[in-house]
Amino acid sequence: MFNRAVALMDLSPGLEEKIRVCNATYTVRFGVRLRGQIHTFTGYRSVHSEHMEPVKGGIRYSMGVNQDEVEALAALMTYKCALVEAPFGGSKGGLCIDPRDWDEHELEQITRRFAYELIKRDLINPSQNVPAPDMGTGEREMAWIADQYKRIHTTDINGNACVTGKPLNAGGIAGRVEATGRGVQYALRAFFRDTEGVKKAGMSGTLDGKRVIVQGLGNVGYHAAKFLSEEDGCKIIGIIERDGALFGEDGLDVDKVRSWISKHGGISGFSDRHHVKDGALVLEEDCDILVPAALEGVINLQNADRIKAPLIIEAANGPVTAGADQVLRERGTVIIPDMYANAGGVTVSYFEWVKNLSHIRFGRMQRRQEESRHQLLIDELERLSKDKELGWTLSPGFKERYLRGAGELELVRSGLDDTMRVAYDSMAAVWHGRDDVDDLRTAAYLVAIDKVASSYRAKGL
Ligand code: NAD
Repeated sequence: MFNRAVALMDLSPGLEEKIRVCNATYTVRFGVRLRGQIHTFTGYRSVHSEHMEPVKGGIRYSMGVNQDEVEALAALMTYKCALVEAPFGGSKGGLCIDPRDWDEHELEQITRRFAYELIKRDLINPSQNVPAPDMGTGEREMAWIADQYKRIHTTDINGNACVTGKPLNAGGIAGRVEATGRGVQYALRAFFRDTEGVKKAGMSGTLDGKRVIVQGLGNVGYHAAKFLSEEDGCKIIGIIERDGALFGEDGLDVDKVRSWISKHGGISGFSDRHHVKDGALVLEEDCDILVPAALEGVINLQNADRIKAPLIIEAANGPVTAGADQVLRERGTVIIPDMYANAGGVTVSYFEWVKNLSHIRFGRMQRRQEESRHQLLIDELERLSKDKELGWTLSPGFKERYLRGAGELELVRSGLDDTMRVAYDSMAAVWHGRDDVDDLRTAAYLVAIDKVASSYRAKGL
């Protein structure tokens, strides 16, 4: 995918290679005494590009973690950050572990030890390398990592900024947990505002009434499905999980399915009428929007020609293989690429990092001042509305809505929405404006690589 894009660019061969390669990958094997014996774990932290620092990227817990995967995901982070103008280089980490095999106390010991190995090499550091959650990790792990960093660097006043995705009461930011799913929603809204793009997908109208299939009801998939169904009028007709899928044209209640999964560990037993044993087959069902939000490589050369959705949004990283991408592209399927589609997470992580460095919650200084200025206007309007001759009144609910100043959550959403719109427009300008670019992914790569290249050139490299 990278090669396809750089072939359309005028980069010097040396620079092209510099951008392509991963700068460094650190492999760690460490032991933890658990259940009466020493268990050895293997983890990675890869740094793809340091054209901007700190570098940024999640830490994943999964048995599938390996050096190739971590390096590919680190590269994707470089391009993702460049595309959404988050001032970071790209990095990624992973630990070969199935978190469901361990209880909470054991996971804490493993996480703290892994974090220690990375911290002592500055591979976790507020100014050099800032991890975040990814598959199999969440707020809890991030809080352990931040605490571990602060135990080692007791006098670093910016210690909290060493990792993002922390709980709100431990240096986190409002709206981070939902951020990637929220970004998927904003990305789809941006797409449906682009009439030329919608036409290219052979679609029409808005998000309202669109039939959606989601794979993976984890952090990203759950929030995307929830917001799309609750706020944009989409109908979730399919949910694919590890142990099969739920499918039905009548639509599924996302919250009910989610709470069933957290109680029973899977979707089995939720509804026999909707249950499909081989979940992957539901990827091939007829729908308007397909949202792969679980893991990579699920749409590949084996099933690509049977995928019916005219629009795929890559909420997960790398769900469509390069081979499948070509098959789908030739058929006219529009793919909103991962680099853009799931960038909501890193965008709000950027806001969290800034919040940690500034040591103040967003909106704390302005909110009440904004409200008191609004109050002035309301007072004046109310005085005028008493004037019988003018004969007008304020609309119901206007006063309460107008008076409320923006708190952190509103500001985070506004920043995320703006980021997703600006990034979409930059991709769409290339997609619609160049004859040699016929897909959003190539457009996204062109925008991102160009920014990374300019940054290297400015450094004199
Ligand atoms: P998660 O662990 O919260 O959720 C993953 C979900 O996928 C789980 O519900 C799991 O049961 C399900 N799943 C696993 N294997 C499956 C399979 N074979 N078939 C169907 N379902 C399966 O992870 P997440 O944080 O939601 O991440 C999902 C994807 O989004 C990953 O590719 C990740 O890299 C990407 N991503 C996450 C974030 C973030 O902020 N969490 C940000 C950017 C990208």
